[in-house]
Amino acid sequence: MRGLVSIHTILYVFAFLYGAVVGSFVNVLIYRIPRKLNWVTGRSACPECAVTLKLIDLIPIVSYIILRGKCRYCGAKIPFRYTIVEMLNGLLYLAAFHRYGLTLYSLGWYIAMPALIALAFIDAEHRIIPDRFNIALAVAGLIMTISGEEAELMSRVIGIFAISVPFLAIAMISKGSAMGGGDIKLVAASGLCLGWQMNIVAVFIGSLLGSVYGVALMIMGKADRKSQIPFGPWLAAGIAISGMIGQLRF
Ligand SMILES: [Zn+2]
Repeated sequence: MRGLVSIHTILYVFAFLYGAVVGSFVNVLIYRIPRKLNWVTGRSACPECAVTLKLIDLIPIVSYIILRGKCRYCGAKIPFRYTIVEMLNGLLYLAAFHRYGLTLYSLGWYIAMPALIALAFIDAEHRIIPDRFNIALAVAGLIMTISGEEAELMSRVIGIFAISVPFLAIAMISKGSAMGGGDIKLVAASGLCLGWQMNIVAVFIGSLLGSVYGVALMIMGKADRKSQIPFGPWLAAGIAISGMIGQLRF
């Protein structure tokens, strides 16, 4: 069999490439939705010189390398974030394919992953989680529920409330300074995706990552105790990670 590539390997490569292509659409959402631009129609253009980009300029990851990170027409720097988002979604699709294959259940994760990436990057930049991404996550959760795989129905129903209600209480006590409405809706939607047990794991991982980041910022002198860092990106990371762990029963 030397020299031959197994179909399985090709499917892995395809999962990554497909994820990267979806990732380039996620880039469009990250840019356009907070700016209230039309994200359905309208060809991609350079934000600097407004030249409509050709297909060759829009190949995920590859175009960035060919163009050496600069707009072909005006030389403006292309943020490396675009490539990061494409690679991230490619890797998460690869992980979901490796973990769950091609099933109704995994379809839920193929919807959830780009929604999580989009809301993470939008929250990091604009401090807001647009509702539509939490809705997309809830739709993904419904698909996972219908599939009957992984978390049980009751665990998912409890999952919607088990963390969102305490979060809501924290938000009310702190008058919204410690917790935003977007975070509350996010953990409600992820509870449906993960079930209450893994949703707790998700929030734990997210809090851990967020604290490590916060402490790192303080050490570098870029933040102090009173600085606020958005929680959404870290929650999103926790949700994606615990989704790929799968059900731990405790
Ligand atoms: Zn340009």
